[in-house]
Amino acid sequence: METIVAGNWKMHHGPAETHSFLDRFTAEAAGDGVRLLLFVPALSVAAARARLGAGAGIGLGVQNVHWEAAGAFTGEISAEMARGAGADFALVGHSERRQLFGETDAETARKAAAVRRAGMTPVVCVGETLEERVAGRLQEVVGGQLRPVLETYGRTPHGAAGAGSLPLMIAYEPVWAIGTGRTATPEDAGAAHAFIRARLAGSLGAARGACVPILYGGSVHAANARELLDVPEVNGVLVGGASLDPGSFAGIASAASGRESS
Ligand code: PEP
Repeated sequence: METIVAGNWKMHHGPAETHSFLDRFTAEAAGDGVRLLLFVPALSVAAARARLGAGAGIGLGVQNVHWEAAGAFTGEISAEMARGAGADFALVGHSERRQLFGETDAETARKAAAVRRAGMTPVVCVGETLEERVAGRLQEVVGGQLRPVLETYGRTPHGAAGAGSLPLMIAYEPVWAIGTGRTATPEDAGAAHAFIRARLAGSLGAARGACVPILYGGSVHAANARELLDVPEVNGVLVGGASLDPGSFAGIASAASGRESS
């Protein structure tokens, strides 16, 4: 499986800053076997697509969509609109959406389904708060976040032949590590990813479940990326703050290069 290095710009970098980032960022920082993704503000998708062209080496995504294709939902954008502007991916269920905007597990599942309906790949974010981790509830919380999403994908028998890759990625992002400078230890990340992998296999069948990349997110930067990517269960990273600067994002991409994930 290729290693994914994804940047989440959050509410930073409008169209002008997006041009300037892409002028300064060279996708060559990522070697063979590394796939770059950028989750930009919805208003910057068209600018990024125009700058990158159709077949560029950087995948483009939005950070949120509504589950309906169109309608009276003032201020929202649909997956179809994001697709039309040039996005191929969408984050759904980011912890900032869940915590600041009250997004539920069921809504996240509807959004993931809408992203697939529009022909894009959802990157479903899951993760526990510190309180939940300390209370030993990681598996209950993360399992509960995954369940409604995975139910929409259906199941194939274990080891089913010909099971291709699904339009789905998971990002494990412990809430206590996002934007805090605290990072999960490699052991913590490995254990959470192994749990998620088992849930994917249980819901989707072993073969399809094995094809879904699981990214780690939470205060990843150039100096700690390699340590996290050396965890066999970690298939890539989702990077917030450290993706805003082209040099720092390139540093993470180059740290990921040459590493084969399981
Ligand atoms: C994120 O926004 O998904 C994230 C992981 O942020 P940060 O890297 O800043 O912790």
